[in-house]
Amino acid sequence: LITDVTPFYATMGGQKGDFGVIRTENGTFEVTETVKIAGGRIGHVGKVVSGTVTVGDKAELAVDTDNRKSVCKNHSATHLLQKALQLVLGDHVEQQGSYQDGARTRFDFSHGQAMTAEEIAKVEALVNEKIAEDIAVVTDIMSIEDAKKSGAMALFGEKYGDTVRVVSMGDFSKELCGGTHVKHTGEIGYFKILSESGVAAGVRRIEALTGANVMAYYQAMEENFNKAAAAAKAAPAALTEKIQHMQAELKALNAENESLKAKMAQSALGNVMDQAVEVKGTKLLATSVDGVDMNGLRDLGDQLKDKLGEGVVVLLSAQDGKVNMIAMATDGAVKAGAHAGNLIKGIAALVGGGGGGRPNMAQAGGKNPAGIPAAIAEASKVLEGQLA
Ligand SMILES: [Zn+2]
Repeated sequence: LITDVTPFYATMGGQKGDFGVIRTENGTFEVTETVKIAGGRIGHVGKVVSGTVTVGDKAELAVDTDNRKSVCKNHSATHLLQKALQLVLGDHVEQQGSYQDGARTRFDFSHGQAMTAEEIAKVEALVNEKIAEDIAVVTDIMSIEDAKKSGAMALFGEKYGDTVRVVSMGDFSKELCGGTHVKHTGEIGYFKILSESGVAAGVRRIEALTGANVMAYYQAMEENFNKAAAAAKAAPAALTEKIQHMQAELKALNAENESLKAKMAQSALGNVMDQAVEVKGTKLLATSVDGVDMNGLRDLGDQLKDKLGEGVVVLLSAQDGKVNMIAMATDGAVKAGAHAGNLIKGIAALVGGGGGGRPNMAQAGGKNPAGIPAAIAEASKVLEGQLA
């Protein structure tokens, strides 16, 4: 819809246009977007939600003032933000883009690296300081020459008309701007930076909230926090302490679990020392045990090697449809010619796997548990070939 005059602000300069309602005698038109169209006119985009709207009707236009106020807060805060960024980061900061709607403000600016947490905190504090000072926001229409003389910030490369609007917030900020603003900075209420990120080489982006949106943000955060505390069965104030306690408990349980697993592996193995055989004068213990992972096999291997005194230990274990295997040789066995790495290489194929390692220690994995007995039988043959 186009009307001869309108209080609706059209999307321009990064500020989102107004929402609202246009009523005629016979119909209601809901405005969801306001845009500038050819010939400098303003177009109200939306749909007829009741009755009919006819060319020539008398219309009453009502801007959604709550939304407009939120947009104004976000826009005015962005002026404070730009100045605060220049003061904290340096004069090289220039606007590269900006967008404000009722929910938030987004401001892109030139800066070579990510802001530190300290810089973000400083900028946020400075903007909030200027909000608390409740500075009057003054709009002046003046010639572009006078505007430049006054030191107002303008966008580099932007074309301006002969007369421009200069929006000033005390001595702190002076910018060429056609957007809508609060009357005093205090109306912004509060300013909260949500994020700072890179959008292109040398361009950073800040997203921030103002006014009631800040409160809503903290309320949502509080709700989340309370949920987390409830899930941890802790009073919200004691949540950190509770998490530390839970982590300590988890660590203790893991340690206990490891030690139980080792004990189970040992009892599953039973008395295997009588399975040790002599191969050309070197003792070999090659056997299998169910459901033990690689760490468990290494622990078991160390124990069996100690019991054996001197010799070679080969252990295989079927776990979750796969085979874990280790081979270990004592110094005396290695001197006699045993090589754990070559030994495991020589038998791994029988369990559908491969692997290798050093003369005294090797491990491998396989995919065929059915081959375990054959691999055990093969171990003594491979070892026999290694010994002089
Ligand atoms: Zn502006």
